[in-house]
Amino acid sequence: MSDKYYLYARKSTDAEDKQVLSIEAQLVELREFAKREGLYITAEFIEKKSAKTTGRPVFGKLLAEIEQNGGNILAWHPDRLARNSVDGGQIVYFLDAGKIGTLKFPSFWFENTSQGKFMLSIAFGQSKYYVDNLSENTKRGLRQKVRLGLYPSHAPIGYINDVRSKTVIVNKRLAPVVVAAFELYAQGSQTVESVAVFMKSKGVTTKSGKQLTKDQIKRILTNPFYYGHFRYCGEVHEGKHKAIIEKRLFDKVQAVIAKRCHPQKGATAPQVFCGLLACATCNMAITAEKKIKHQKNGNTHEYIYYRCTRKHKTITCKEPPVTEQDLAAQLSDILQSYALPESWATTLGKMLDADEYKAEQSASVFVANAQIRLANLQSKLQRLLDGYLDQDIDQQTYRTRQGELMSEKKSLEEQIGKLTLAGKAWVEPMRQWIKQAVSLCEIAKSGDFVAIKDALLQIDGLNLFLSSKKAQPTAAQSSFLPPENIWFSLRKTKEKERWMRSNFPKSSFLVPPRGIEPISSP
Ligand SMILES: [Zn+2]
Repeated sequence: MSDKYYLYARKSTDAEDKQVLSIEAQLVELREFAKREGLYITAEFIEKKSAKTTGRPVFGKLLAEIEQNGGNILAWHPDRLARNSVDGGQIVYFLDAGKIGTLKFPSFWFENTSQGKFMLSIAFGQSKYYVDNLSENTKRGLRQKVRLGLYPSHAPIGYINDVRSKTVIVNKRLAPVVVAAFELYAQGSQTVESVAVFMKSKGVTTKSGKQLTKDQIKRILTNPFYYGHFRYCGEVHEGKHKAIIEKRLFDKVQAVIAKRCHPQKGATAPQVFCGLLACATCNMAITAEKKIKHQKNGNTHEYIYYRCTRKHKTITCKEPPVTEQDLAAQLSDILQSYALPESWATTLGKMLDADEYKAEQSASVFVANAQIRLANLQSKLQRLLDGYLDQDIDQQTYRTRQGELMSEKKSLEEQIGKLTLAGKAWVEPMRQWIKQAVSLCEIAKSGDFVAIKDALLQIDGLNLFLSSKKAQPTAAQSSFLPPENIWFSLRKTKEKERWMRSNFPKSSFLVPPRGIEPISSP
């Protein structure tokens, strides 16, 4: 694919564009971004028209250029390119047809996969909620610079600091013990203490040979390092080191830890929503408390309250407690906001089927092709050896040629391995996500507190805070996720659609889409 980029900047007098960077600022940011990413800009397209309807002359020129010569597009955000289904569909169609190699946005993470295109079409369909996030996106861009992925500190148990390469590598002896510890605790029947005993029996101890303390075990069980990320200066970064456990196992362990949150004095057994929320004022955990009210007639009533643990050393927290009933209703609403509507799931499922078929076809063709090349290489190697043995070729020539052929062979083998593995590796997780996201609606309505809590814990990157008796989700600001987590995209899209429906009941937004666009079917 061609490596030339077309820069497209747009700002109109639309109310929705008010908060968008000026064209000049977009140009500065985009040129800067291109420089940083090593992108070669061949032409710049600047437009001062609204993208709500079709028929922008400069955008038309850009599409014509791409139709003819192919290329990639660089823009500040998807909503600069399109805010109507026809133009958005055209972009997606060009991606599918291979006319557009890729799209780059400083404020939006795009990957040319089925999932990426789904999120892109979501972004084309919405605007306001993304605009609100612009400043946050810019900050995120700056933070990206420091995320080089190299852990700057002492390697945790299960890893060692390799002095020569200055990297962290897996400790082959201890890593399996750490994995086993995670698996053990994930069962839910073991205590932190028994994990310490287990680890000692496998030779994992303190420097002086004692059993690890409970705190040390907890630190291991909550350390994202083991699935490939690391915490540094309060932030989680993507690491370059090898993960030894799956994120799924880590999440299971976190759920078990959360279930076992310790109640405060005066409270009884841990209540169901413990470990789910943090206080918005002081960021301390939210705990439960049982209160019994005695009435004059002798009746007693039990109430469960959730409140801040107020453990912060410098902040005197005054967040008021909330009753379990109120909290449960709020949490159920939040869960509902992440549910995938059935009709969207159907469209998305069809899209996946088609893409899976395509991926399978192209992968198998490529694998077959590579295997033929591999067989060719094999016989070339054999002939080369024969020639050398028959003394037709001198040793120097033989060694050079043999090295080249072997290197080529290794590359091919690796490619085949990757293709066979990755061809459609994304399809199954995506299917599961759809199923999970659809099921949220039922769970939210079920009134089953445990199920609601578990479902909320399953939403990647969702952090819940209690503020003035209200449970509130934070936006997708969690730094260890790719900027546009699919859950948050889904939620924003639903908000946006509701907003569009109430403000523009018959707008062009609801024109039947071209290309994939599961979100705007009327
Ligand atoms: Zn607090």
